[in-house]
Amino acid sequence: MDKIREREVQSKRTLLIADDDVISGDILSSFFEKEFNILRAYSGKETLKTLSTHLDIIDLVLLDIYMPDGDGFTILKARQENKEIKKLPFIVITGEADIERDCFYLGVNDFIRKPFSNPEIIVARVKRMIELYEDRSIIKEVKTDKLTNLYSIEFFKKFCIQFDEAKPDISKDMVSINITRFRLLNELYGKNYSDEVLKNIAKFLEHFVDKVKGFASHTSGGDFLVYCTHQDDYQSFVNDLLNHLESSSVHLHIGICPNVDPLLDKDLVIGRAHNVANSIQGDSTIYAIYDSKVEEKVFFEEELINSFKNSLKNREFKVFYQPKYNIQGDKNRLSSAEALIRWVHPKHGMISPGVFIPLFEENGFIQQLDAYVFEEVARQQAEWKEKFGIYLPVSVNVSRVDIHNPNLEKEILEAVDKVHVPHDKYYLEITESAYSQDKQEVISLVTSLKEKGFLIEIDDFGSGYSSLNVISELPFDVLKIDMVFMKKIDEHPMNRDIVKMILALCKKIGATSVAEGVETVEHYKFLKECGCDVIQGYYFSKPLPENEFTALMEREYQNGR
Ligand code: C2E
Ligand code: CA
Ligand code: CA
Repeated sequence: MDKIREREVQSKRTLLIADDDVISGDILSSFFEKEFNILRAYSGKETLKTLSTHLDIIDLVLLDIYMPDGDGFTILKARQENKEIKKLPFIVITGEADIERDCFYLGVNDFIRKPFSNPEIIVARVKRMIELYEDRSIIKEVKTDKLTNLYSIEFFKKFCIQFDEAKPDISKDMVSINITRFRLLNELYGKNYSDEVLKNIAKFLEHFVDKVKGFASHTSGGDFLVYCTHQDDYQSFVNDLLNHLESSSVHLHIGICPNVDPLLDKDLVIGRAHNVANSIQGDSTIYAIYDSKVEEKVFFEEELINSFKNSLKNREFKVFYQPKYNIQGDKNRLSSAEALIRWVHPKHGMISPGVFIPLFEENGFIQQLDAYVFEEVARQQAEWKEKFGIYLPVSVNVSRVDIHNPNLEKEILEAVDKVHVPHDKYYLEITESAYSQDKQEVISLVTSLKEKGFLIEIDDFGSGYSSLNVISELPFDVLKIDMVFMKKIDEHPMNRDIVKMILALCKKIGATSVAEGVETVEHYKFLKECGCDVIQGYYFSKPLPENEFTALMEREYQNGR
């Protein structure tokens, strides 16, 4: 039996009754003396002294606010500053309702009103409070998150309920704070680093809940919870937390359920806050507020995640191919294709990559999915070579998450070499924003892939913040102008000038230019005039399934011959 349990079973609890009013102290003592050991103090000074000499045996303090030599507020403030005294529950004895608020903010757990009306209820409340604190100690003993020192989830939930009971009139929020790609952080930077990150977040949260009143828990891995008084604006919370972390490698997603209905089961509320956090995609959005539509989306996404492994095995993922045409000759010529994945889901039908790629980037599945695409594409190229006698260059998308995969190059090489596709017919599209995020890693990956003879395309050029750096620092072969430029081209003449400039720049540095999202004949004419080499977009064709793309090749090559 552990020490605390042992004590619980064997001995009487000890109360410290701090009250200068002898009669009121005697009355209280009489309620408890059968079941408790009683210590008495009659002034602030005496209370502090008894707390310091008998701390290890006191289980709860009943505190009068008005006493000579240091009133109850002085004691409560001293308690805030002393870690050991803070572990004890304090119940304030009061005749005035209006001091309760101040006491509450000083961390008081409960109140007993004078004159004492119902001894059974008073005793029951004291016992319950002690139990709760001992539960906490037990949980702390056996299950505490030693690392962060925050409450375990079990105790956190109990405390939420107690908080609701103690303060039914105050609105509260449930906040779920998750480090995204925590596993990756662990793998990349090691356990010591991620432990430091967790401790750092815990420190911030502890300070925050101290300030606004509430509790924080480290639930698992990179996940934290906060239950606190309602905040109108979480932007400053987020800003302060990010400033506190000061690390660009840590990304957070924060889900908030504001003004929680206290009657709802806490697990449900925690689940909602967690789902809201999970619903955030990408690293640019950090927090989101609960609404029921978001939740439906999250359930759908969970279903997708749960069915991924089987779907991959069942080959439900289909690679589509979108043709790219070279438009600078006399005749537009099919020059290559981009591989774009689709999920033909048995229940939900065709699902676009915009829906599942961000999910799989979040949980790491993207690496398996892309490895599958790498193989499928190479196999397809080899098949077309058999049929048409040529290797059609195809570009595959390399996710920002793939960049961290130490086996990426090996996987690509294996996929391509297995079916003997020449490396210069295999293009790798790397989005500009991946470069903005992980410059050094992208540069070394791209350099190494180029040494092996692969061609590199910068995707979504102009969408990020490092467009000019990317040109000067990254060795690449093809520049793909981001789709938004096509959309904007009609809006403002300046956008045409930007496209012209990018195309001129490509010429100058000897890179092939590709414009994507080309939908109209006007776009096409403009781009041809400005010397754009290659065009991809609905103007020519949507992405096509394998058999339709094969038919398109057949037509192209017949016409061409
Ligand atoms: P992306 O690489 O920028 O791909 C271009 C997207 O534009 C494709 O969307 C394509 O279908 C669409 N598109 C093509 N022509 C036009 C047009 O004329 N107008 C408009 N409005 N859109 C056009 P899709 O197939 O939905 O893919 C979305 C994104 O998902 C891709 O953006 C890419 O980032 C990602 N993705 C697709 N397949 C893969 C994959 O196998 N692996 C990885 N890692 N990401 C993929
Ligand atoms: Ca692409
Ligand atoms: Ca793109």
